[in-house]
Amino acid sequence: MSSLKIQDLHVRIGEKEIIRGLTLEIPKGEVHAIMGPNGSGKSTLSKAIGGHPDYTITSGDVLLDGVSILGMEPDERARQGLFLAFQYPMEIPGVSNANFLRAALNSRQSEGEEIEAVDFYEHLYEEMDKLEMRREFTSRAVNEGFSGGEKKRNEILQMAMLKPKYAILDETDSGLDIDALKIVSAGVNAQRGPNIGCLVITHYQRLLDYIVPDVVHVMVDGRIVRNGPKELALELEEKGYDFIKDALAEPV
Ligand code: ADP
Ligand code: MG
Ligand code: MG
Repeated sequence: MSSLKIQDLHVRIGEKEIIRGLTLEIPKGEVHAIMGPNGSGKSTLSKAIGGHPDYTITSGDVLLDGVSILGMEPDERARQGLFLAFQYPMEIPGVSNANFLRAALNSRQSEGEEIEAVDFYEHLYEEMDKLEMRREFTSRAVNEGFSGGEKKRNEILQMAMLKPKYAILDETDSGLDIDALKIVSAGVNAQRGPNIGCLVITHYQRLLDYIVPDVVHVMVDGRIVRNGPKELALELEEKGYDFIKDALAEPV
C-alpha cells in the first residue's frame, strides 16, 4: 500500500492522447527512473500527476498510499506528500523564496502550530549550504532570473524542505554542468531512504550515474515498453532508443 501507483493511465492534451495506458508503481523507499526519447510523454506524465489543468485524464488512476489523488487540486496533492520538480520550473514574481517555502510548510501545520522563524531559517540555511546556494537566494523572487542550473538547485531545495512522501523529478539534469549535476544529485541522494519514493525522469543516462535507480522503466509513445535493473540504462545509452523501437516493431 505504501507506494505511488499509476494504473492504466490515459492522458490527453486537447484532442491528442499522449499517455496511452501507462502502469507503474513506485514503492516507498525506492528510486525509479523513467528514460525515454524526446516527445514520448515524460513531462506530460509528471504534469498530469501534479494536476495541471491542461491535461485531461480520460481513464486510469493515480493512487498515493492507496488513495486516489485525481479528484484533488494540485495544492491538496502536495499536502498529501506529493512533490514535483518540473523540467521548466515556474517563476513566481513578487514572492521571495523564503516566504514561499515558509508558506508551503505552514500550510501543512494546524492552526497555531506554525513553524518559528528561527527554526525555519536554521533549517533553510542548512539545506542551502548542502546545495552550495548563496544566502541571497532566500530573498530573491522564486526562480525569477535564475539560471537553468540555479532553478534546478532551487527545486531540490524545495524538496529538502518539504520532505515529501513521493517526489517526481523531471529532467533535473537538464541545464546542469557536471559540478552542479554532482551537487544536485548529492542533494537528492541525501534524501533517499525508507520514507520516500522517487521517480527520476531523464533523457540521458548520465544522471543515473549519480542517482543510481533501483528500477529503470523505458517510455516510448506514452507507454512503458520495458522495465529492468539499473543496467538497462547503460544498455540504452550504448544502443540508443532505436534499439527499443526496432524491437517493438518486430512481430512477436
Ligand atoms: P517528453 O517530456 O518525453 O519530451 P512531452 O510530455 O513534453 O514529452 O511531450 C509529449 C507530446 O505531447 C509531444 O508530442 C508534445 O508535442 C506534446 N505536447 C506537450 N505539451 C503540449 C501542449 N501544451 N499542447 C500540445 N501538445 C503538447
Ligand atoms: Mg522533452
Ligand atoms: Mg520532458
